[in-house]
Amino acid sequence: MKLVCATNNLHKISEIKNIIDSSYQLVSLKEIGITEDIPEEENTFEGNALAKARYVFQKTGMNVFADDSGLEVVALNNQPGVYSARYSGNEKDYKANNSLLLKNMEGVTNRKARFKTVVALILDGKEYIFDGIIEGFITKNPRGSGGFGYDPLFVPKNHILTFAEMSISEKNKISHRSRAVNKLILFLNANTLL
Ligand code: IMP
Repeated sequence: MKLVCATNNLHKISEIKNIIDSSYQLVSLKEIGITEDIPEEENTFEGNALAKARYVFQKTGMNVFADDSGLEVVALNNQPGVYSARYSGNEKDYKANNSLLLKNMEGVTNRKARFKTVVALILDGKEYIFDGIIEGFITKNPRGSGGFGYDPLFVPKNHILTFAEMSISEKNKISHRSRAVNKLILFLNANTLL
């Protein structure tokens, strides 16, 4: 079954391809000719995920899912949250975002944080929502070179390595995205004929 994954983030697509069954043919935005950035103007993960899925569905009529994710840091009132990508500016620069986060966490002892993903699915014109959360904490310095975004600063609860020090498959066993995508897959398996 063909399913549009409404992102052009190659890291995300390869993470999701690692989780999703090969009977689903994942198609990126680029592959269906959508090269523009889909606006993310809502102030919730759910609002942004739905807006991205609706944008693709209205343009193509294809079955599509979109995810919106971010990091919520408890001591920063759950910031950067929906602004995770643009925390330090519109350039969406991972390094600058990480530096700003560490600066804002200087002297802060409560380092609790969570990654959250919301997946919006439009299947045969109907909308569905799935979510995934992983709790953890923010390190004092970046560690590791894998993954993307805030991965070098995030250690999941009951783990020692940051997401950036783990392999993709180790990260996928526990990540917010895999938790939400696994719910999506269970739903698809129960509700589609492939
Ligand atoms: P998006 O809107 O779902 O693309 O995610 C927004 C931002 O959240 C990304 O640009 C990253 O900064 C951050 N983020 C989301 N998921 C992850 C992850 O798995 N690891 C690290 N950072 C992430």
